[in-house]
Amino acid sequence: MTTLEHSSKIIIVGSGVFGISTALWLARSGYSDVTILDMQDTAATGYDPLSGTDSASADLNKIIRFSYGSEIEYQRLASEAAQLWDDWNREIAATPADELPESLREGDRKLWWNVGLLRMSCESEFGAFEIETLENMEREGIREFQFRSDDDADIARAKQRGWAHKLDPCRRQKRLGTHKAVLDSTAGFVYAYKSCAWAQYLAKKAGVKTTLDSVRGKVIDITSRDSRPVVHTADGSEHIADLVVVAGGGWTPSLIPEVQGLLETTAGSVANIQIPMDDPDLWGRFAPENQPVISWGSHQGKEVYSLPRDENGIFKIGWRKTKWTNFEDVRGRRVSVPRTAHVTEKKETRVPIDALNGIKEYIAINFPELVSLGISSTRLCWYTDSIDNSFVVDFVPGCPGVAVCSGGSGHGFKFLPILGREVVKILEGKGSQTVYGQMWRWRSSSESKRNGLEEGEEGPRVLSKQAMASEADWKFTN
Ligand SMILES: Cc1cc2nc3c(=O)[nH]c(=O)nc-3n(C[C@H](O)[C@H](O)[C@H](O)COP(=O)(O)OP(=O)(O)OC[C@H]3O[C@@H](n4cnc5c(N)ncnc54)[C@H](O)[C@@H]3O)c2cc1C
Repeated sequence: MTTLEHSSKIIIVGSGVFGISTALWLARSGYSDVTILDMQDTAATGYDPLSGTDSASADLNKIIRFSYGSEIEYQRLASEAAQLWDDWNREIAATPADELPESLREGDRKLWWNVGLLRMSCESEFGAFEIETLENMEREGIREFQFRSDDDADIARAKQRGWAHKLDPCRRQKRLGTHKAVLDSTAGFVYAYKSCAWAQYLAKKAGVKTTLDSVRGKVIDITSRDSRPVVHTADGSEHIADLVVVAGGGWTPSLIPEVQGLLETTAGSVANIQIPMDDPDLWGRFAPENQPVISWGSHQGKEVYSLPRDENGIFKIGWRKTKWTNFEDVRGRRVSVPRTAHVTEKKETRVPIDALNGIKEYIAINFPELVSLGISSTRLCWYTDSIDNSFVVDFVPGCPGVAVCSGGSGHGFKFLPILGREVVKILEGKGSQTVYGQMWRWRSSSESKRNGLEEGEEGPRVLSKQAMASEADWKFTN
């Protein structure tokens, strides 16, 4: 472990949620020599996936939920993050437009939207998981913010609080004669790229330095000299530091071989539908004011979600039933690595046909009015999964001065404003004294079930084993 001083030279690899939040909190905690290296110029692109940035954090929008079932520690951290998301909304509103990151100067200048999350059953009854979730919420004293679509008292409370119009946005009861759903009025979404751009702006304001460049910012190796970590970048430079924090998202397992077995790179599947601006009915119905975030058939074998249309009319739908792997040779090892639209050598903009069909089924059943529009684009979004879906933030055994900060496992974004606070405590060596330090410590699992990581290249989720959807599949056939 490294003993940190406020003047220590700290390098962070990666400017996504995990890297930027860490940098921000280090700088705000008094560390004066913090530099972020990234192989993508996230300052120039503003993390906008449509401008060619490929990372889990560089996305249009992400779901924010504060209910975590029985995982109380994540629920508490998410609630603390909620206060900071509110603060960020207020700070942005109070900042002159010309001082803001470009994506926040025009259009929606609000990051966090409390539009509700409708957990919709795909059957005529609730699944066991939903019932358990509601019981947990009752115990935690937060049940009053949940509205069941089939409970008169809940419907009356939803009406009183202005949420009733979001209880059945798919008009399922009228069209299908059945609708079982619970609206969580505490949840919503954030504009992901705008949030990261804002966090980067705050980090720079706090003194964080950045090298965001496909050559000078690209880390190709991390070695050690005199017990100090040395970062090698693609321009041939060496950067000797006191501490290196690797927050490389889906690229982390290829940079740090030691994480193999603890972290694995996988991809979620996403599709977009372009809502036409010149159709006032659709434009209005899919706006955040009228459309909640929806999850459909969660723990019932469907695992689809959608978010309200964004300011440009993009309606995003995600399928999380299967997370794909992609094994390639990385310096003599077989490692699952991202295969993205822009950054990686082998490019990929398609998703597997199974995922696209799952998304099309969701649309056809729940939003038949969108069928004639068809899908307008698809994307694989690469994460790092850990063996137990909890983050991994700790020093790497046998690598002096090197820490890993990753393992978002598909739920890390909501913690952007607060994550770094806990990471700094771990980097300062206080991890064993904190709840999150213990949860996110370096660990292994002797059990045979390890969140799919045990499957490896032999498993069924390997991308090369899938039939991929082509543009011709974007149309719906009746
Ligand atoms: C499909 C999908 C849906 C999700 N939905 C949600 C959600 O609704 N709510 C939620 O809370 N979370 C969600 N998440 C999870 C969340 O997006 C992630 O936990 C989080 O964004 C991970 O951030 P990161 O910093 O670890 O990685 P990334 O955002 O991937 O950032 C990694 C950065 O490291 C850089 N990098 C990598 N290698 C190198 C190198 N060698 N040299 C220099 N730079 C390097 C990359 O360029 C990149 O900028 C979702 C994730 C996915 C994929």
